[in-house]
Amino acid sequence: MGLGDESGPYPALREPVRPLSPEVRTGIAASAGIAVGQAFVIDRRRQPTPRRHLLPEEITAELVRLDEAVALADMQLERLKRKLKESDESDSSVILEAHQLILRDEHLLGPTRRRIRDEKLNVEWALRKTVAEIQQRFDAIDLPYFRERKSDVAFVGEQVLRNLLDASGGNVWQPPLGAVVVAHDLSPADTVHLHRHQIAAIITDAGGRTSHTSILAQAFGIPAVVGLEDITEAVGAGDLLIVDGNRGEVMLCPSQSTIDDYKQQARTEHADIAKLLAERDVPAETTDGVRIRLLANIELPDEVPLALEYGAEGIGLYRTEFLFLDRDDFPKEEEHFMHARGVLRRVAPYEATFRTFDLGVDKVAPFLHRIAGAHPQGSEAEPNPALGLRSLRLCLKEPSFFKAQLRGLLRASVAGTMRIMFPMVSGVEELSEAIAILDQCRRELQKEGIAFADNIPIGVMIEMPSAVMVADHLAQLVDFFSIGTNDLIQYSLALDRLNEHVGYLYQPLHPAVLRMVKHTVDAAHAAGRRVGMCGELAGEPLLTVVLLGLGLDDLSMNAASLPRVRRLLRQLSASQARTLAEEVLKLPSAVQIESVVRQRLAGMLGEDPAWAGLLHPGRRTAKSSPA
Ligand code: PEP
Ligand code: MG
Repeated sequence: MGLGDESGPYPALREPVRPLSPEVRTGIAASAGIAVGQAFVIDRRRQPTPRRHLLPEEITAELVRLDEAVALADMQLERLKRKLKESDESDSSVILEAHQLILRDEHLLGPTRRRIRDEKLNVEWALRKTVAEIQQRFDAIDLPYFRERKSDVAFVGEQVLRNLLDASGGNVWQPPLGAVVVAHDLSPADTVHLHRHQIAAIITDAGGRTSHTSILAQAFGIPAVVGLEDITEAVGAGDLLIVDGNRGEVMLCPSQSTIDDYKQQARTEHADIAKLLAERDVPAETTDGVRIRLLANIELPDEVPLALEYGAEGIGLYRTEFLFLDRDDFPKEEEHFMHARGVLRRVAPYEATFRTFDLGVDKVAPFLHRIAGAHPQGSEAEPNPALGLRSLRLCLKEPSFFKAQLRGLLRASVAGTMRIMFPMVSGVEELSEAIAILDQCRRELQKEGIAFADNIPIGVMIEMPSAVMVADHLAQLVDFFSIGTNDLIQYSLALDRLNEHVGYLYQPLHPAVLRMVKHTVDAAHAAGRRVGMCGELAGEPLLTVVLLGLGLDDLSMNAASLPRVRRLLRQLSASQARTLAEEVLKLPSAVQIESVVRQRLAGMLGEDPAWAGLLHPGRRTAKSSPA
């Protein structure tokens, strides 16, 4: 995007266009549900510069945004300059020095601030106008020196603008109500933004079942199909689409009778959910009296009411980082305190499990630029973010940032029942270090006379094979375990969870995965610790019987999965499930395990028609021929 471009907004939706022939595309079923709507295509290369007039009360914040984006650009130039000097390219670093001078020059900043203050233009618009004005002045002087300065000014302006757009997550799209968003890929921050526009569905070229975009789509109840590889090439703005998030299919140019079939199917689904919700208060207890606690995963505090409505008995995983993904300054202790207190009050009398920051990879906040090596994009790009400076290791590297969260959580703990959980722990050293920082925060608060609960259970996520192998040692340091299968599968099967090209290798029933779960459960129980699961597997009905048999105490999942898992558990026997688990743990492949699980489940459920889709996945549940 060039500053001189007048890239306008996206074209408004036009009359639905039908391609010549109907077509079905198959991708990865990322979030359940069916939607029919017109395509809203997002093309990042055409990302417009947002332009809007400010309300008087927004002016101060906009001036701060300008200062922060300029400071960040200055830091980025400084880093680049250092790198050039280290590689003996000191001549080129002179150019960067010139850019820094332009960046601090009042000719650039003064008029931009004036435009924000007096003309009430948002900062991107104000900056673009100022740059264009300076360039015009240079144009009037026909000397090579000034022509070059003109491109320097454009470069500097571009850098600041990019920082501003990054800081807002680059989210400037305005899809109409009920649109099907079509994109190459979406970040979690994009998804949060799009959710606010009440879109009907999401379909993307890239992504995997356990990418955080998919997880958010599930949380928001937005049907999604990802990993469609080239759907952005096949769909135009305004095309009519059917998205089947249950089967991972997208229908292009559907006939009217197909649309009618799918609308009927969606109505049937809604009616089924309504029936399931009527049972939300019955305990998730097996036919032989084993009680499993069903908890919800949430990404934002606003999800708490829905989680409770779906029958959650608490929050098993609150992914605390999502609230701050659009921020370019470090979240403050006070903010952590306020948000945590709000969640605890809403969840009461149940408990809420706060996972400390798990930033990095696809959960990228602009403020990560402030921690060297932590931002997976930009000038210090991390070539392998899943193995880089993310999650707990990032927090340990930046203790003041980490302490702000821990102090905020501790202070909020008196408002309800809190558990704290550390993610991405590789072994006892990291865990001990995290616990030591938490203890330090406790001591500080004590000295300051600030109250906090003294019995907060501390837990660890088991999501690395190394953690599984030392689970017995970890169990000595904490009160509970929660198995994060999304990452555990990624790291044990060497399978990037964001990469659609290896999505077919995602095998929750891989014998290695099941054996790791068993090993972890046994280590926890041997130490008298409770063990749960909060990865996506916890909400997969086909896995429920296996997880029950493996001995998990808690299952934490996206709220929408709770009613089905509850109903299923109430129809299963724990002793039969244990026999099944013993049997499948001896089998050599995921394919064989899946086949045995389906056979045994059919025996246990007695061909109950309510579970036909689970037992016979190939069979369509509604009469419909695609397209
Ligand atoms: C997991 O890895 O299974 C998990 C629950 O954490 P996240 O999906 O946020 O990485
Ligand atoms: Mg994880």
